[in-house]
Amino acid sequence: MASESGTMGRDPCWKYCTPMEGNKNGTICNYCGLAIKSGGITRFKFHLSHTDPNSNTKKCPNVPPEVKQEIRRLIEQRNKAKAKKAVDIEEIRAELRDTMGRRHMHLIDEDDEENLGIYL
Ligand SMILES: [Zn+2]
Repeated sequence: MASESGTMGRDPCWKYCTPMEGNKNGTICNYCGLAIKSGGITRFKFHLSHTDPNSNTKKCPNVPPEVKQEIRRLIEQRNKAKAKKAVDIEEIRAELRDTMGRRHMHLIDEDDEENLGIYL
């Protein structure tokens, strides 16, 4: 997913795996050594947390229970953050529409002053 590529390097789950050389979507599990060739850190998290919704990722046999729980929490938080972000963006959009609508009216009212500003 393009929207996640910017945050991939900072994902805390990278401490549990090694990036695959020459494959930016590949991960190698630090616990069992499994090479996951696609899906990046998102799919690796399914591997560690045993929560792949599509059940096409092998479950990690060596992940410690506390790490499994940690990853599950991370996935949960991320999902919540995403949902909240969508709401926030909608609110900001609505606010912007409102503000821009008003500012536009304002500019028309003071058209002469606005032209002076350009020459100064
Ligand atoms: Zn593993």
